[in-house]
Amino acid sequence: MYIKEQKKKYKQNKFNSANWRYNEENDVYTCPNEKRLLFKNHSVRTDKAGFTGEFKVYECEDCSGCPFRSSCTKAKEGKYRKLIVNGKWEQQKEYVRAKLSDEKTGSIYRRRKTDVEQVFGFLKADLRFIRFYVRGKSKVENEMGYALMAVNLRKYTANN
Ligand code: SF4
Repeated sequence: MYIKEQKKKYKQNKFNSANWRYNEENDVYTCPNEKRLLFKNHSVRTDKAGFTGEFKVYECEDCSGCPFRSSCTKAKEGKYRKLIVNGKWEQQKEYVRAKLSDEKTGSIYRRRKTDVEQVFGFLKADLRFIRFYVRGKSKVENEMGYALMAVNLRKYTANN
């Protein structure tokens, strides 16, 4: 996301809610049509991988007759655009953004892309290792160890 967020296309997309004005005091977003998106309710969702997250749901006060409607929302006629915000996720992204914008950590990250990403790519795409199936630091370390052993064995067999 960090790389995507740096792109002009992302920053200039006025329908991307990340570019919308947010008034923290009133907890209100403002859309490109200058309508307010007001807090509606909290929601808890569990994704396909089984992770549960807490979200805040906002809804536009009035999308009817909006000239941007077709570019902004797929909501059916009579329904208004909703915005679902995961506060923890946004906080975490902000933390990482600050780290990556820093000169020192940024250069480590750039090196990491070429050194490490290939290994993660192989783990995720070829071995389908996309999450840990155990809990607890030592068990996770073991599981990671087995996965990396598979990576090394592959390298070994490819080179012999
Ligand atoms: S569709 Fe609704 S949220 Fe989107 S720009 Fe129009 S009024 Fe705003």
